[in-house]
Amino acid sequence: MLPTLTTLQRRKPHLYNPDWLCPQCNSSPETLDHLWTCFYILPEFSPLNTFKTLLLALRSNYLDKFLSASSLIPLPDSFAVEFTALRCWDCDPP
Ligand SMILES: [Zn+2]
Repeated sequence: MLPTLTTLQRRKPHLYNPDWLCPQCNSSPETLDHLWTCFYILPEFSPLNTFKTLLLALRSNYLDKFLSASSLIPLPDSFAVEFTALRCWDCDPP
């Protein structure tokens, strides 16, 4: 388990004041989920932005491979639109 501030507050409340919030944004408790969404973390180091970049690159790579592959059954014209609309490519957390 990552030693987020909430973890440290739970383990050593005498050292880490339970009222302290994320030291970056000071607006939310620093939980593991918050580390993915904190808007003060530099974009290039944001795990969520890295995830989005890699996932969209994977989608483009797969789509290129599907469209350039020769198969016995041709893909329907709507393949690219339907493939990119799959819910698995949705990057934003709920
Ligand atoms: Zn924050």
